[in-house]
Amino acid sequence: MARYVGPVCRLCRREKVKLFLKGPKCESAQCPIERRPYPPGEHGRDRTRQGSEYLAQLREKQKARRIYGVLEKQFRSLYEEASHRPGVTGENLLRMLETRLDNVVFRARWGTSRSQARQFVSHGLVRVNGHRVTIASFRVRVGDLVALSESAAELITVRQNLDLIDRPIPGWLEVEEGGNAIRVRALPEREQIDTQVREQLIVELYSK
Ligand code: SF4
Repeated sequence: MARYVGPVCRLCRREKVKLFLKGPKCESAQCPIERRPYPPGEHGRDRTRQGSEYLAQLREKQKARRIYGVLEKQFRSLYEEASHRPGVTGENLLRMLETRLDNVVFRARWGTSRSQARQFVSHGLVRVNGHRVTIASFRVRVGDLVALSESAAELITVRQNLDLIDRPIPGWLEVEEGGNAIRVRALPEREQIDTQVREQLIVELYSK
């Protein structure tokens, strides 16, 4: 399973916005974007490039990809699928990203970041309707029950995350089993997705 393994804070600095990729560090004063709010690289400070329409679209797409940890090829095929579904393509795309299993684990507050959530999934700590699923991009459906395995529910990291993370759980998910399981009540509506992405720009980019 291919994934980005380079320095992640660099991605936020490139987008000039916090993408919250590193869990607790993102909320602390150690967040590099607080200290160096300009793009990385030798000429980062000097970049005063005029924003073209294309650049805005490209950056928005990169931002979405980076938030959800999806590589270009996979993101493109998600877009293709979203564009063939009924409804608004941009919303379809975001909905498909939100219903990825690693994102659901993140939303359930079991992981501090999507990358930690992805690690839990790939290490086999998560069950969907009682079955072990190790594919982070697996998409949950309405009615699915996503649960921690018995051993995962005892992990100190998971217990700490459940106790300390105060991120609200979106309304399309329902907590069960004292926080160790989550039920997919419905597919997320756009207003239930708090990701700061202008999906229309992504659609404009890909539909050129
Ligand atoms: Fe981004 Fe978090 Fe790194 Fe800050 S600490 S730059 S928000 S990943």
